[in-house]
Amino acid sequence: MPVNQLPPVAKSFFAFCKKCDADRYHVVVAHTSAKSAKIKCEVCGSQKSYSLPKANGATKGAAKVTRTRASTESARKSSHNAEYEAMMLAQESSKEISYSVKGHFQLNQKINHPKFGLGIVRGVHMDKVEVVFSDEVRNLVHNRE
Ligand SMILES: [Zn+2]
Repeated sequence: MPVNQLPPVAKSFFAFCKKCDADRYHVVVAHTSAKSAKIKCEVCGSQKSYSLPKANGATKGAAKVTRTRASTESARKSSHNAEYEAMMLAQESSKEISYSVKGHFQLNQKINHPKFGLGIVRGVHMDKVEVVFSDEVRNLVHNRE
């Protein structure tokens, strides 16, 4: 059942009652339009009109956000690929070393990771290196005794 639909007449649903100052079951007395109904609090008996939240607009908005996120994602990915290729090209002649947690890696070091493949160190921290792999940037441990 779509969320943006009124509960049928005589059905009860949870809504806020101002008079009770609490969430109460309200019985639907009548539909006054496609999006509003007259409802009655089951506890205090007060009647009020209830309108559906504008779910349509919200759904459209959400879809838009998803699309934006998807295109950002692909843009991010292609800029990542460009970065990876540029870095690989720059280090074309340097020798890669096998990754190990006991290794000590420098900036621009070419790393051969058994699982992620070839990568280039983009950032060096005390115990971690930021490595650009063909699919994404990963933080790997190093300097581990
Ligand atoms: Zn009430």
